[in-house]
Amino acid sequence: MIENTSNWAGNYTYRAARIHQPETVEQIQELVVRSDKLKALGTRHSFNDIADSSGDLISLERFDKIIELDRDHNTVTVEAGVRYGQLARWLHEEGCALHNMASLPHISVAGACATATHGSGDRHGNLATAVSAMELVTGSGELVVLSREENREHLEGAVVGLGGLGVITKLTLDVSPTFQIQQDVYENLPLAELKEHYDELTSKIYSVSLFTDWRSSTINQVWLKRHVPKGTSVKAAPQLFGAALATSHLHPIASLSAENCTEQMGVCGPWFERLPHFRMDFTPSSGEELQSEYLIPRQHAFSALRVIDGFRERIAPLLQISEVRTVAADKLWMSPCYKQDCVAIHFTWQQDWDGVKAILPQIEEELARFDARPHWAKLFTTSHERLRSLYEKLPDFQQLLQYYDPQGKFRNDFLDKHIFGT
Ligand SMILES: Cc1cc2nc3c(=O)[nH]c(=O)nc-3n(C[C@H](O)[C@H](O)[C@H](O)COP(=O)(O)OP(=O)(O)OC[C@H]3O[C@@H](n4cnc5c(N)ncnc54)[C@H](O)[C@@H]3O)c2cc1C
Repeated sequence: MIENTSNWAGNYTYRAARIHQPETVEQIQELVVRSDKLKALGTRHSFNDIADSSGDLISLERFDKIIELDRDHNTVTVEAGVRYGQLARWLHEEGCALHNMASLPHISVAGACATATHGSGDRHGNLATAVSAMELVTGSGELVVLSREENREHLEGAVVGLGGLGVITKLTLDVSPTFQIQQDVYENLPLAELKEHYDELTSKIYSVSLFTDWRSSTINQVWLKRHVPKGTSVKAAPQLFGAALATSHLHPIASLSAENCTEQMGVCGPWFERLPHFRMDFTPSSGEELQSEYLIPRQHAFSALRVIDGFRERIAPLLQISEVRTVAADKLWMSPCYKQDCVAIHFTWQQDWDGVKAILPQIEEELARFDARPHWAKLFTTSHERLRSLYEKLPDFQQLLQYYDPQGKFRNDFLDKHIFGT
């Protein structure tokens, strides 16, 4: 049992009295039965209070086993605390792959799916879209399995569950045959070029990330992650819509060393060593940063970037780096990409909460015209009323929470404020 701990960035200290580290499902069931308030905790990478509880926390750290690869159904079943880094390497050795990864591989599968964590790619839904089944301990202590076959609707409501339905103990994810990616980086893309070329760029390449510090109307770096047949590589063109092919490895913040970044310069390698930006063997224990992100219907990508560009002088002093990605539509009730392809505009801020807290409402107001939805696990100030108008399934989600957790054991301040508006 651990006491008094904070999240990965160190900007939030959990108020929960204790963190339990059970080793069996039965132990989780016992904890749930005897508690009034509690919540599951993953790898603590969220920036807000989404994972906190006024009671106790249950860490899934010891639920880190890969259970089964089902080659007939192209799925893998894992314990909820498995980290993507561990799973990805194992899957590759078995000849399999996941469809995408987030920027870093150190996060837990259950925690990432619960918050609709995503990578980039026009044709790739967020990481939760790979979930075909999950097992959870609900508010009564009962062990329940939800699956696409048996209870698809509840599964679609529960996967991006914000930790509110119970303690997830197992997840089954879709897999495909392993594949290779080559990564090339371009520097200094004039923002104006995106008006004509963004769709063309992102539709042709497996995964594209744009990085900018908003110090000028230029995208500092374009990271292209291209799907290539094994053992081959594509010769990257020296220019990309006015941007120049990088001649050395780059960190998204160009002044930092690229040694922690996944390999670039067109060298092809397995998907899990190219899709995240940061390498698996680099394990940051904490990060001096804050993050926010807004997901906007894809058709507004350029207009939304223009709006941000319009007040970049206010954003840039608080910013480390901003990243722009695309995410495919899905059917998960609380996913920001529910029924809509999205562009995701992300901000990695300096750890200056007063400054960030002041700028977020301005960004949210400017992006409101595009129906921007905040990333659940990052910092935002969007009201419950606004979220209610942005998520047509929010009332159904409230009911689902009440169904699986009638006593509100897994409810916390975050859910009360943002989902229930109380
Ligand atoms: C450096 C950094 C990079 C990031 N990069 C990306 C990125 O590329 N894309 C992106 O979309 N996001 C990104 N994020 C955000 C991150 O993916 C989310 O915060 C994600 O939720 C982290 O997973 P976690 O295991 O740390 O979850 P936690 O923060 O521990 O928990 C998050 C939520 O999941 C719930 N939860 C966790 N485990 C369980 C369980 N077993 N049962 C039920 N509920 C559970 C918790 O209760 C909580 O509600 C990044 C964060 C950091 C710090």
